[in-house]
Amino acid sequence: MRHGELQIFECWCAGMNELWLLPLAWLAMVGSVLSYYRRDLLAVWREPVLRYPVMIIESDDWGAGPVETQAAALNRLADVLSRFQDQNGRHPVMTLALVLAVPDGRAMSQDGQYHRLTLDDPLFAPVRQAIQRGRVTGVFALQLHGLEHYWPAGLMASADPSVRTWLAAVTPGLTEKLPSHLQSRWVDASRLPSRPLKQPEVAEAVAEEVRLFESIFGERPRVAVPPTFVWTADVEQAWAREGVEFVVTPGLRSACRDATGLPNCDTGPFRNGERGAGVTYIVRDDYFEPERGHRAERGLEALAHKWAQRRACLFETHRSNFMGDAESAAQNLAEIDRLYSLAQMFYADLRFISTEELGRVLVEGNPAWVEKDLTARLVAWLARARALSGFWRAARLTGLAWLMRLIAVPLRADTK
Ligand SMILES: [Zn+2]
Repeated sequence: MRHGELQIFECWCAGMNELWLLPLAWLAMVGSVLSYYRRDLLAVWREPVLRYPVMIIESDDWGAGPVETQAAALNRLADVLSRFQDQNGRHPVMTLALVLAVPDGRAMSQDGQYHRLTLDDPLFAPVRQAIQRGRVTGVFALQLHGLEHYWPAGLMASADPSVRTWLAAVTPGLTEKLPSHLQSRWVDASRLPSRPLKQPEVAEAVAEEVRLFESIFGERPRVAVPPTFVWTADVEQAWAREGVEFVVTPGLRSACRDATGLPNCDTGPFRNGERGAGVTYIVRDDYFEPERGHRAERGLEALAHKWAQRRACLFETHRSNFMGDAESAAQNLAEIDRLYSLAQMFYADLRFISTEELGRVLVEGNPAWVEKDLTARLVAWLARARALSGFWRAARLTGLAWLMRLIAVPLRADTK
């Protein structure tokens, strides 16, 4: 080889050496993305993987409040739900998050002190009967929302004149009409930002609400849904001491209302089956509120998304959807009907269970419900990783997303 040729050859070799660095640099980049998001990636790997699609509509705010409209709405809901059955012969279970008291305006006008009208009052008999009817049919499962949908002392201390009027009303009012920040039970939001409650106050209030629930319904609540999703670790501990096993969360715990009145001071993210302060979290982060224009097709999309991740699809909805004027209540109910029809049409093996039952199969890792097969778990993990927005953005930028898609295709084919 002549001298000139040798030089060219050496340059080419040096170039080749640098080219070899490229895959190494890429691997280092991908490795740093995986390392940065390792906690989230591990958490979604540990989260139980379901073997069947599960859809639960969770409906909040029922209980003490308007009598006839609630009882009628509950009866209509029970009629619709009992028309459907899954392959095990189970009806869809709507979970009712129950409020156990409203202000007793008449008593309060006597002495100006706070008095409550509890759900065991004869006035609420039609509501209790409608709840019981759905419970016996297997279409309602009861959950604790709160003794009240507010912290009574916070409401009493509020300087808002509309709150004073609401408290003094003779007929039981709609807590939905209160200013949003005052609908939180587990903070004192009479002034903003809210102030935390003292631990003994919390413990006493929790013991009181759990016992009242038990005396009305004959059993302690096992699932709690914190009003407006504002609560603290103290509340969880107190619930756990009183027998509550599961807490429904949107994936975060907000411990305060900030200066603007919005939920804040967040802890999370929480995943299904994760342990809190003595309780287990169940994530509810899909919404089905026909009064806000949510249609059955949107619900079906949410179910598809959750099933791809092998997670249960829990919808949040409120009693207000079913208690308005006759025409809109009927339309909203028809949308629930359509959602179940479509869900069963697209997912023949759709399963209906309550949130409590779901929590239990997740905690126990019941093999009849929870996937043990490694390939199926990997497919679920890949879909869950895609839903971690920060991670997926970084994965797309580095090309890791392309690699993950490449891996997912044969795995998915394997699990079919
Ligand atoms: Zn509520």
